[in-house]
Amino acid sequence: MTICVYCSSSNHIDAVYPDVARTLGHALGERKHALVYGGGNVGLMGVLARTLHEDGGHVTGVIPEKLKAKEGIAYDVADELVVTDTMRERKKVMYTRADGFAVLPGGYGTLEEFLEVLTLKQLDYHQRPIALINTGGFFDPLLAFFDQLYDERFARARPEDLVHVAADPAGALDFIEEHATASPPSEAF
Ligand code: AMP
Repeated sequence: MTICVYCSSSNHIDAVYPDVARTLGHALGERKHALVYGGGNVGLMGVLARTLHEDGGHVTGVIPEKLKAKEGIAYDVADELVVTDTMRERKKVMYTRADGFAVLPGGYGTLEEFLEVLTLKQLDYHQRPIALINTGGFFDPLLAFFDQLYDERFARARPEDLVHVAADPAGALDFIEEHATASPPSEAF
């Protein structure tokens, strides 16, 4: 399977987070999954891509020209580096190629990517599995807010019907493997 991972681009976070990115990289390699991700060499993105590569896995990075032009940001040794004109085009490539989505802790960029695939799933543009890797309860405040959205009827679907909350990378990949779907995503962008 091809797994799309959204995760932090920060190099300044607690060591527990790179550790979990490394664990996910090893787990992808062991299970023979390919990775498609934002194409960065920084933060958890870089840790993940380098780990999977060291284990012989296949890495596809998708990065907009503007970010690639910045020194040291792109993971230039990816097996495939797709360079897009825009951020939107980049998200489209990741969205289209993935069989499932795993989300590691991250900032605004990660949240934006995650919420987009979540929203598209609620709108039935796709039904592919999405798993949050909830390291140390990182996503608990967001999940509490999702419950509020559902309880107050701002959200139509229960959060648990859209996204699986996994304690660790193995749990996330188990869920994605079990819930793979043959039906292709609709054109969304
Ligand atoms: P953030 O969570 O704000 O660090 O953003 C990380 C997410 O946004 C990743 O999943 C990437 O797809 C994208 N992204 C943000 N910054 C970069 C960067 N410097 N290089 C590549 N991708 C990035």
